Amino acid sequence: MKQITVIVLLTGFVISACKSQHKESGKAVTIETMEFDIKKSEEEWKSSLSPEEYQVLRQCGTEYAFTGEYYMHFEDGTYNCKACGNPLFSSETKYKSGSGWPSFYKPINDNCITEKEDRSSGMVRIEIVCSKCGGHLGHVFPDGPRPTGLRYCVNSISLDFDEKE
Ligand code: FE
Repeated sequence: MKQITVIVLLTGFVISACKSQHKESGKAVTIETMEFDIKKSEEEWKSSLSPEEYQVLRQCGTEYAFTGEYYMHFEDGTYNCKACGNPLFSSETKYKSGSGWPSFYKPINDNCITEKEDRSSGMVRIEIVCSKCGGHLGHVFPDGPRPTGLRYCVNSISLDFDEKE
């Protein structure tokens, strides 16, 4: 029971730590206070996303490993931001990382993803967000395959697959 309480408290902390970063968005262009082209109020985001999408994309949630729609999905096409449609990853750079989340070794172009330092959960990680709307996608780690050596670890729920015609 005590363990459950600790987990609940930690989860709350992770979400609020993330929210406070986003809340500061808006003025000077530093990595924490970046402006995004698509600006919506929290109420607008809530009405345009499902509760699960909102929790991950706007509150930096994480879907459970091995549960998402795309972790074992290997069709040809493009993965776009679920919140705004911004193209993020090509299926050509998707690979089986064994992590339980969709993994890519690079984004579809140099500008579609913005990186932010994430010091939540007692770790220092690099959070990745959509450059157009600021939606939380996941994290990038330095343990990916060649040629980049990077692993973009992304929540399926933050993505929308567009099949190649
Ligand atoms: Fe987006």
